[in-house]
Amino acid sequence: MTQKRMLTGDRPTGKLHLGHYVGTLANRIKYQHEFESFFIIADLHMLTTKNLPEHIAEVDKNAKHLVLDAISAGIEPDNVTFYLQSAIPEIHEMFTLLQNLVTVPRLERLPSLKDMARDANIEMPYGLLGYPVLQSADILCVRSHLVPVGKDNIAHVEITREIARRFNHLYGEVFPIPEGMVGEVPTLVGTDGQAKMSKSLNNAIFLSDSPEEVRRKVKTMYTDPNRIHADVPGTVEGNPVFIYHDAFNPNKAEVDDLKARYRQGTVGDVEVKEKLTIAINNFLDPMRERRAHYEQSGVIEDIIWRGTQIVREETKQTLYEMRKAMGLSGVWNRIRRKAENYQKKQVKSDPA
Ligand code: ATP
Ligand code: MG
Repeated sequence: MTQKRMLTGDRPTGKLHLGHYVGTLANRIKYQHEFESFFIIADLHMLTTKNLPEHIAEVDKNAKHLVLDAISAGIEPDNVTFYLQSAIPEIHEMFTLLQNLVTVPRLERLPSLKDMARDANIEMPYGLLGYPVLQSADILCVRSHLVPVGKDNIAHVEITREIARRFNHLYGEVFPIPEGMVGEVPTLVGTDGQAKMSKSLNNAIFLSDSPEEVRRKVKTMYTDPNRIHADVPGTVEGNPVFIYHDAFNPNKAEVDDLKARYRQGTVGDVEVKEKLTIAINNFLDPMRERRAHYEQSGVIEDIIWRGTQIVREETKQTLYEMRKAMGLSGVWNRIRRKAENYQKKQVKSDPA
């Protein structure tokens, strides 16, 4: 393996939003040339919280959104291999082999899993408890070195590191120990002021939103709730509109001026939000242009189809090496040899 590898991805539960961009997509774009890159469409992970037939029926559409959004944002499809998790049965086999390298109490302590169950309004399924182990299979199937993720996911990469170390220690060196990498804004707040912008919480500005949708969403954004008039001094820290200005408005002088006037009570929310709308739309405009080029039918599906076949071959090879290191292939080979010898003898003694 010459070039180091990067693995990252999303559950096909909807479109990518600004939170994904600052949390992980920006790093994916930044490192796509330096690393050989693989992007998973994690539909088996989707099943941990959304497993109804109507959720599964949406996977094709959402997979297309994910890939189209990533390409529109600057991922070059010639550089990156996209793949559909459920089309690679060897990933589930790896998952089984990795399951015994982590304890239940270790997984139960992860707050991210409890948050996911709470947000989905369900009791923790067995599969959700194993989410970080399945994620380890995703990361390790391509023997990745770098895993760009949002903050809520970094603890899962830590589990992967522990599992990989444990595997290497018990059976021999098969895996590199991957590094997690969190984006510049580790968790972007939602437009409603909630801690996390999320596809499922109805508080997201999507990369594919039209200029009018962006304007409408920014207009109704949560700001400083204590500020009832434009002439009341407001709080900038932790205020979503300013968090977004810091993240998406490249005109630092304008942002500093708005913050100063906000603190003094000499600027209204309307102006702050109008300037934010312009900044976000400027940020999204180049994505809108690229999207139009790739939207035609079949191109994205072709990218997923080709990528999945590449990763399947790669995963078969990793699994082969795992089984060999563990001694599992040895067991099977010995049984097979004995069975073959027996069959030959049978044929000799009973030539008819
Ligand atoms: P869902 O509501 O279905 O869980 P999601 O918006 O949380 O969707 P995921 O597919 O779970 O998105 O996350 C994909 C990646 O994006 C993960 O690495 C996650 O940490 C990151 N991410 C998601 N939302 C944010 C956010 N608001 N800020 C920063 N990173 C985020
Ligand atoms: Mg999530």
